[in-house]
Amino acid sequence: MVKNYKDEYYFLTEKLDEIEWALEGKCNDIDCNKYMYKDLLKKRYKPVLEHNFSCVKKLKIDKLAIMGILSQQRYKPFRYTKCHVCGINLDKLNKNNKIVGFTRKIIEKKNNYYEWKGFWVHCNCEKKVKIPVGWNKR
Ligand SMILES: [Zn+2]
Ligand SMILES: [Zn+2]
Repeated sequence: MVKNYKDEYYFLTEKLDEIEWALEGKCNDIDCNKYMYKDLLKKRYKPVLEHNFSCVKKLKIDKLAIMGILSQQRYKPFRYTKCHVCGINLDKLNKNNKIVGFTRKIIEKKNNYYEWKGFWVHCNCEKKVKIPVGWNKR
């Protein structure tokens, strides 16, 4: 059961990201003039609708609906965590919180690659994040 809730949570937050992306100007509505693949389709297809006029209202309604679903009790284990710095609860969907990421270079059999890890923190706590030994701030 828990597995399903987790999948649902990631599905819903992915949708939310898409909506926020669209609101910021990369619309996922094929009829919109801000449609992100407009350039690819331009020759055969002419997007006509204004982004603001056609989409933003719908996007905002969708966003509210998804936020409503995500506030259900069963998504709490995935949505909330503790701040890496102060240890106080943190809502991953709140824009005042963010992931601070670090990378380090791994050399393995002549192949280089980068390993990544991140900590959730309140934006106010960000300055106090200590860089782990051997890692670089991304
Ligand atoms: Zn649009
Ligand atoms: Zn904090």
